[in-house]
Amino acid sequence: MPAPHITQSYAALPGILHAPAALLPVASAQLIIANDALAAELGIARDWLHGPEALALLSGNAAAAHGQPLAMAYAGHQFGGFNPSLGDGRAMLLGDVAAADGTRRELHLKGTGRTVFSRGADGRATLSAMLREYVVSEAMAALGVPTTRSLAVVATGEQVWRQRPEPGAVLTRVATSHVRVGTFQYLAARGDVAAVQSLMEHEIARHMPGVSGPRAFLAQVIARQARLIAQWMSFGFIHGVMNTDNMQIAGETIDYGPCAFMDGFDPQKVFSSIDDYGRYAYDKQPVVALWNLTRLAECLLPLLAEDKDAAVKIAEAKLALFMPQFEAAFERRMLAKLGIADVAQAAFITKTLQQMANARADFTRFFTALTRHVAGEGVDLAAHFTSPQALAEWQAEWESLRSANALALMRAHNPVYIARNHRVEAALRAAEDGNLLPLHQLLLAVQKPFEARAELEAFEAAPGPQEEVLQTFCGT
Ligand code: AMP
Ligand code: MG
Repeated sequence: MPAPHITQSYAALPGILHAPAALLPVASAQLIIANDALAAELGIARDWLHGPEALALLSGNAAAAHGQPLAMAYAGHQFGGFNPSLGDGRAMLLGDVAAADGTRRELHLKGTGRTVFSRGADGRATLSAMLREYVVSEAMAALGVPTTRSLAVVATGEQVWRQRPEPGAVLTRVATSHVRVGTFQYLAARGDVAAVQSLMEHEIARHMPGVSGPRAFLAQVIARQARLIAQWMSFGFIHGVMNTDNMQIAGETIDYGPCAFMDGFDPQKVFSSIDDYGRYAYDKQPVVALWNLTRLAECLLPLLAEDKDAAVKIAEAKLALFMPQFEAAFERRMLAKLGIADVAQAAFITKTLQQMANARADFTRFFTALTRHVAGEGVDLAAHFTSPQALAEWQAEWESLRSANALALMRAHNPVYIARNHRVEAALRAAEDGNLLPLHQLLLAVQKPFEARAELEAFEAAPGPQEEVLQTFCGT
């Protein structure tokens, strides 16, 4: 059972970017869940992952043989206000491993106790919040959306005080890189242009083959975010806290706080309990992503051209690519969900979304119903429309636009199972009581989201009026 070979590449970056993270051992570490499929991708032996050495390492009780875990420094615009000093206040970077495909992935522990960046907070995390991130990030990965992954959750045997005392836990998060827009802002706010350059080169070398120089780098980050937001929205996903410190440069979804897959469609839907103005509502996500990318571009200005005005022009030209790229990706995906291959039919998406909003149709069930209809299964489409007339009118146009390969397109783009909030919450409550069965069942469903299975039918259902989760919470 060889331990994974971990190196600490990030330590080679300028010291301003990281600080040593102290080991603050927990009372009694217990493995709650481990991701064997991901371990295989990372070349990590299953036996090791389930053994005592992994438990000591992944609880934050023991350092890896390679040495010092690091807390990463970053800044961030939170709900529009700039905070020049955030950083890992409750997390540490263990280091990085070579995945089976040759790429490097970072292992990051979340909930390991206070760091120099913690300010007033306790540095810990709750079992329910860490399991929530585990389930939702794994559901996201299975949908084919770039995301950080979850390798394990270890309970700490300690209580964490939130609204009430809750069991504590540590999540092992796996990412291509944990560098965020906020990491660049941290350096730019301190006027450290040389470090901005080093950080950019680190990111390019790690995961941007073929990219060279600041202009191509900016264009690459923009293109990845455009695609990512389009993917989120095609699955009804709302991130919830798109602060610049929660936007990762590599283009993976990061920081699963008050996020959710929507049930009934409402384009202005907000989940975060603290998002009073709807800044991060479903339909605002492209605008906010562009706003965040503009903050990144500002950090890169000194690298883009020597002359400030010329640099601004270059940045603006790259930023102008975001909306068209987002729209093209979103339209292609939404049309595929409708079984339409002709990308010129975007007006029909607007019509469809409008009708879905009017009927408050369940985002996921609407499209699975259409898929089943095309497959010749008798489904009641009218249930998803405001009236039989609305259905008849919409359906006539739909039939005329559908392509010959509609069913294959629809099956590949319309998940049967998403990590529905009410199911996630039920699984977390059971897990807190020591019953992991609902969690494992939910994972069975969402890890193969496009594959309907009769025994998992209950996971397709939308929440009843009593079950609907209206808000989710961050900082937990
Ligand atoms: P988040 O809302 O998870 O994106 O976190 C925003 C910032 O608050 C980050 O710098 C976190 O490290 C920090 N933070 C969140 N929760 C805690 C906590 N329990 N203890 C210390 N820092 C925290
Ligand atoms: Mg964060």
